Amino acid sequence: MADKDNPTTVADDLVVSIEYTLTVDGEVIDSSEDEGPLDYLHGHSNIIPGLEKELTGMQVGEKKKVKVLPAEGYGELDEDSIMEVPLDEFPEDVPLEPGIELEITDDEGDMMFAEIVEIGKDTVTLDTNHPLAGKTLHFDISIVGLRTASAEEIDHGHVHFGDHDH
Ligand code: ZN
Repeated sequence: MADKDNPTTVADDLVVSIEYTLTVDGEVIDSSEDEGPLDYLHGHSNIIPGLEKELTGMQVGEKKKVKVLPAEGYGELDEDSIMEVPLDEFPEDVPLEPGIELEITDDEGDMMFAEIVEIGKDTVTLDTNHPLAGKTLHFDISIVGLRTASAEEIDHGHVHFGDHDH
């Protein structure tokens, strides 16, 4: 019998602590070495689907290499994600330079990335593809901790740190 209070196998509604390195096109672009292990609530789409699926059933202490194709990562590159925004709708505090990366909110209130591609006379061309869209992701993962989530964390669908609550 599994001990409910001391879970050892990654499953839904557990808080999983992972150390990871993300390599794209042969280059390490993100790693838990800088900020310490990542804690997330498993089974609530807090991490990309292709990674979450592969972590299910792993044991504490286990390491794994996970390859995630774009469709299960940050999506394919989408031509329709290139859009023109009228210059006068642009916030004044945003520097208007090609290559500047922004976080914008769409009509549904979801946060998305946008990179300024071009500045025209009356419009700004934005590319809202995620910077990792179209990329195959190579993760080196190590499961370093597991705990049961609180009822509130499960209800909110994310991990709470310290007295954070939202
Ligand atoms: Zn919360």
